[in-house]
Amino acid sequence: MTTIAGARVFDGNDVLGVASVSVEDGVITAVRPGAQETGDVDGRGMTLLPGLIDAHVHLRGAGNLGQDLRHGVTTVLDMFSAPPQFTAVLRGRAATRTDEADLRSCGLMAGAVDGWPAVIVPPDPSGWHMPGLSAPEDAEQFVTERVREGSDYIKVFVENPADVDRPVLSPETVTAVCAAARAHGLLTVAHAPTCWAFRAAIEAGVDVLTHVPLDGPLDDAIDDDTDLTGLVVCPTLAMMRARADARSTDDLLADPRLLAGLDREVADALRAGDRGHVPVSDRPGTSYAHAADNVARLAEGGAAILAGTDANDVPGHAAAVLHGASMHLELELLVRAGLSPRAVLRSATSLPAGVFGLADRGRIAPGQRADLLLVAGDPLTDITATRDVRGVWRSGVRLSTTF
Ligand SMILES: [Zn+2]
Repeated sequence: MTTIAGARVFDGNDVLGVASVSVEDGVITAVRPGAQETGDVDGRGMTLLPGLIDAHVHLRGAGNLGQDLRHGVTTVLDMFSAPPQFTAVLRGRAATRTDEADLRSCGLMAGAVDGWPAVIVPPDPSGWHMPGLSAPEDAEQFVTERVREGSDYIKVFVENPADVDRPVLSPETVTAVCAAARAHGLLTVAHAPTCWAFRAAIEAGVDVLTHVPLDGPLDDAIDDDTDLTGLVVCPTLAMMRARADARSTDDLLADPRLLAGLDREVADALRAGDRGHVPVSDRPGTSYAHAADNVARLAEGGAAILAGTDANDVPGHAAAVLHGASMHLELELLVRAGLSPRAVLRSATSLPAGVFGLADRGRIAPGQRADLLLVAGDPLTDITATRDVRGVWRSGVRLSTTF
């Protein structure tokens, strides 16, 4: 048994004050309020949180998951990786390793024949190629195949045909994908980075919207009588900022704590100006201010906001949005957009766990999986304190690294 004593505890919903947390066989066995105990780990002056959940990443290699864990991200929700055999290998690793973050994945994303995202996925040597949908009738087969591959939810690409130079799904096909997923008991997550796409995704009945309109105010994306309390949105502000502003990597470079868990080559490449393959959008009206204002509006209106980065770096290489490091930036951007630190910490722990049915994690309570993050200072008053990582436990096993 391990006991972490003396730390302030945020349990995923509320601050418990100073408490002792005991862990045995990968599970939290006791949470005792009070500062009187001593434990195996001295958490005085620190804050203990549930391990963070990044609700939007793309996996490009196993190294992504190690980088996530080093930054206190104990679970990632993959929002499209390919081919299916690759995703299956990562699932297998996650089931057995304690030095990488755990994952859930949609597997392949629903998109049009010859459209995004099929155009970025080359056929593999075995002859496998990315499937596309051309009509609502294709939805059931697409979802059935993903269920067979082990997808945990369904991702669908929603864009205005006027905005992309490739075929896109018709609104009827998006609606059919949502219905097919629902019939299989799966949530649908929609890529929706514009006002047009946001509106279309809501009208199609998706469960979770990811990204947030970058090209205009929310009023252009919803009707006056839209019930915001019914929306779940993962804004990916780190990516929205990268899409709107070429200097977005300055945010990473400005804080040594964000670089500390990266490979030296990655940090050096960032300093040299390498921001990976994410281009700055040339779409008219694009402004990061729209994204931040829209998050504020959604939160004020009662929408559930989930923290997610859209990290997509190839392991060992720089990118504008990085696994692990950019999650801490995302938390800060959500606070700067107007959410309270407490709301933001919920958006990275108990809230995504609840939305995605991860009943065993996202909270510090007896019986929960011991995925924990110990940081110096108090992120409830200064959200950037989450970057001061002093300990990470995945299923009760402490990550052995020098913090
Ligand atoms: Zn994405």
